[in-house]
Amino acid sequence: MNIILFGPPGAGKGTQAARITEEHGWPQLSTGDMLRAAVAAGTEVGQKAKAIMERGDLVPDEVVVGIISDRIDEPDCKKGFILDGFPRNIPQAEALDKMLKQKGLNLDAVIEIRVDDSILIDRIKTRIAESTQARADDNVETLTNRLEVYHAQTAPLLPYYEKQGKLKTVDGMGAIDEVTAAIRDVLKTPL
Ligand code: ADP
Repeated sequence: MNIILFGPPGAGKGTQAARITEEHGWPQLSTGDMLRAAVAAGTEVGQKAKAIMERGDLVPDEVVVGIISDRIDEPDCKKGFILDGFPRNIPQAEALDKMLKQKGLNLDAVIEIRVDDSILIDRIKTRIAESTQARADDNVETLTNRLEVYHAQTAPLLPYYEKQGKLKTVDGMGAIDEVTAAIRDVLKTPL
């Protein structure tokens, strides 16, 4: 299956994606991870993205669309893939629809992991406190901006995918195993 894991920063997309990968073998395609790797490697894309990511803003659409398109062409995506952190606005979603059509592929489901903002802020604060190698964008100021960007630009994708009949929502506020179980149920139920 080709799916999108959707949710605000700190919703647990990465954790859940790793579990789905383990169960089904579909690779996790995280634009955040790919961009961080580009920053670490000092590539042209990384140099462009670094300051934008540190502010918590979105890197240009053409950059992430290009990265994802190339990644989907890799042989391990043939059996399916999990998009994590992409698309993040309507133009990216439209680009994805077009790209998948050109590749002869289909999107099977968009799984929203729903978590209230107050809980997200607490989680990120814990992540910062516990981490020895905090991510450059894991600070309260940047997080506030990431949440604002999420509500302004990314949340409008919910009605976009609802209209396509692809949206499935799970409660992301329970224990990690409960969220995994809810996602497993969604993946079993045909749309
Ligand atoms: P989180 O979901 O915790 O906010 P990510 O690792 O998904 O973190 O993304 C970190 C940063 O990488 C974002 O704040 C943004 O600057 C950049 N980024 C990731 N994915 C995209 C995307 N699809 N479009 C634009 N920018 C992106």
